[in-house]
Amino acid sequence: MIIIDPILIIDSGHGGKDPGGGTNHLWKEKDFALQISLYQYDRFRQLGIPVTLTRNEDVFISSVDRARIVRESGAQYCFSNHINAGGGDGVETIHSIHTDPTLATRLAQGIVDEGQNLRRVFSRRLTTDPKKDYFFMHRETGSVRTTIIEYGFADSKLDDVEQLQTYWMDYAEAVVKTFTTFIGREYKSPNQMLPKVQRKVNGLLNGERVTIDSYLIKNTTYVPLRFIGESLDAKVVWDAQRNEYNIVTKK
Ligand SMILES: [Zn+2]
Repeated sequence: MIIIDPILIIDSGHGGKDPGGGTNHLWKEKDFALQISLYQYDRFRQLGIPVTLTRNEDVFISSVDRARIVRESGAQYCFSNHINAGGGDGVETIHSIHTDPTLATRLAQGIVDEGQNLRRVFSRRLTTDPKKDYFFMHRETGSVRTTIIEYGFADSKLDDVEQLQTYWMDYAEAVVKTFTTFIGREYKSPNQMLPKVQRKVNGLLNGERVTIDSYLIKNTTYVPLRFIGESLDAKVVWDAQRNEYNIVTKK
C-alpha cells in the first residue's frame, strides 16, 4: 500500500465545549469554521490535492493536541480557519514570523477579490520571547507552514455578518483557488467540474414552466430536487437549521 502524505491540513478552529469568540446570535464560530473547512476539504479532494483535517465534527481539541495533529500530519501547509471578533471588519491572515508573507497575502487578496475588504496581513511575536511566534498554531506546529485565516468579524459594525452569511462559500473557494495555484496545480472551479450535461428536462420550477439540464453520473440522471418536487406539485422546503430538504406533498 502506498500512503501519500497530505500536502495540506485544514484546521477548523475551536470545537466542542469551545464555541470560539467569533460567535454571534446567528452562528457559533466552531460551526462556521467547520463548514468552511469541510467545503474546502471536499474541493481539494475533487482537485486531487492530498488533504486532511484536524477535526471533521464538533469535538473539543486542546491546543496541545491540535498542534500535535498538525505537526505529525505529514502536511507541508496548514490553514487554520476562524471567524474574528473584536469589532473590526474584513479579512485577516496571519503567517509565522519565520515565513515570508507571500502566501498569507495571496490568500487575503483572493478573498478580497470575492468582495470582502482587507483588514490586515500580519505576524506576531511572543512578547516574552520575541524569537518565537505569538500564536501556538505557528509556534507549536513545527515545520508545517501555517496560515491563520480570519474570514471576517462576527461582531462587525459594517457588513461582515451579512457578507459571511451570503458569501462564505465564495471566500472558502477563494482559498482553494489561491492555494491550488500557489502550489502549481491546475485549478478548476466547481462549475468546471460539473459532469457533462446529458439532456434537457421539462418541468416546473417556482411555478414557471422551464427546461433544465440533467447530468448523468454513474448511470443515474440527476436534476435539482426542487425541480422534481415542484414538477410533481409538491412543496420543497430547505431547512437550513437541520441541514435538510423537506418535500411536502399536497394531500
Ligand atoms: Zn477563532
